[in-house]
Amino acid sequence: MTQRIVTDVAIVGGGIVGSSAALALRRMGLGVVLLERDLCGSRSSGINYGGVRRQGRPLSQLPLAQRAHEMWGRLPELIGIDGEYLRSGHFKIARSEADLAALESYRDRARDFDLGIEILSGATLRAQCPWLGGKAVGGSLCAEDGQANPRLVSPAFAMAAQRAGAVVHERTRVDEIAHDGQRFHLRALNLESGNAIQVEAPVLLNCAGAWAITIAEQFGDVVPMVSRSPAMAVTEPLPFFMQWSLGVEGGGVYCRQVARGNLVLGGGPGRLLDADRSRSDRDTIALLSKQAIELLPMLRNAHFIRTWGGTEGYLPDRQPVIGPSRTTPGLFHGFGFSGGGFQIGPAVGEVLADLARDGRTRTPIGAFAVDRFSSVPAATPVLAS
Ligand SMILES: Cc1cc2nc3c(=O)[nH]c(=O)nc-3n(C[C@H](O)[C@H](O)[C@H](O)COP(=O)(O)OP(=O)(O)OC[C@H]3O[C@@H](n4cnc5c(N)ncnc54)[C@H](O)[C@@H]3O)c2cc1C
Repeated sequence: MTQRIVTDVAIVGGGIVGSSAALALRRMGLGVVLLERDLCGSRSSGINYGGVRRQGRPLSQLPLAQRAHEMWGRLPELIGIDGEYLRSGHFKIARSEADLAALESYRDRARDFDLGIEILSGATLRAQCPWLGGKAVGGSLCAEDGQANPRLVSPAFAMAAQRAGAVVHERTRVDEIAHDGQRFHLRALNLESGNAIQVEAPVLLNCAGAWAITIAEQFGDVVPMVSRSPAMAVTEPLPFFMQWSLGVEGGGVYCRQVARGNLVLGGGPGRLLDADRSRSDRDTIALLSKQAIELLPMLRNAHFIRTWGGTEGYLPDRQPVIGPSRTTPGLFHGFGFSGGGFQIGPAVGEVLADLARDGRTRTPIGAFAVDRFSSVPAATPVLAS
């Protein structure tokens, strides 16, 4: 049996980006069909670290991050739950005077965006945070940044979109997309019932995460995206001691403590098992443990109760692709978030909805144009006959 649906906007991918775009489009009154081959929010969007951080992003991402920050502040109104979102503060540790100078420079360059970044000296830090290891010489606090539970937040965007009238098909894989010059024709398969679905729409949003490259390339938008899997781990519950989400200047371990006491930690590469599956890597977890104990000596005897990874698309400049196709009118991309799409995801969804409706958006997205990889030749898009 084949179901045929004609709508205004078709979306491939029900991560936080596709789902928030679906919600924003419904709030604009447009018809939306969202097709997700697994469960909405079950991929990167639902298994990430949960950092909701603006501090440290490239300046070109800050307008988007600020738009998202405003949305995170009214999450219950948007998606019906608080998603354990807390403006707990994000603290970036400096382990040398050079690191501290880099953090001060970022604070100065980001001043126009009003992030409220405050530099803390080593003495203040030791007085405020006796649990920190000796390597910290100071750091940078963004008090309004925070954390959330991705497992709750990302599926809730899809559920909110569905309540607002979006047609959401889970366990439905998009296998073919063609464009007849005016409309997209999608052929999808429900993996549980075996039923086929055909969707026809003048606008297509490519929100397929690490797998979006297949759709982009089909339409001649060739980008050098690769898949990677950040490694993650969580400890048993420990007495609560840390409100901040912690990062380290120059990279390495990052961690946060949830109200129940567990510490969620990340850092280093995990292992891609195949195109769809990934997990953490034993050597990475060993290194992560060492770095975490240096940062927080009290973790010396703590046990990890689970480790995992997730498949994420990375671009060479670690910036996403957001905006129109360079070949095909009506096609808009939102993918390649390079490990940082959870915080900005809700705003990317709104931006894609702006583009779908108006062809433009008030948020600057020039840095994320697909044609910035101009040395990669534009392939010829496949047109439906
Ligand atoms: C371990 C880890 C930790 C991270 N930590 C953070 C963090 O702390 N803070 C932060 O801001 N970001 C973080 N990120 C990045 C963030 O999670 C991602 O950038 C973001 O979730 C991307 O959202 P998305 O909707 O683009 O992709 P996804 O969540 O991957 O969604 C894409 C969806 O498309 C679907 N799909 C693909 N192909 C098809 C098809 N043919 N048909 C139908 N559906 C299809 C997939 O099943 C998937 O559900 C982390 C990522 C990982 C992996």
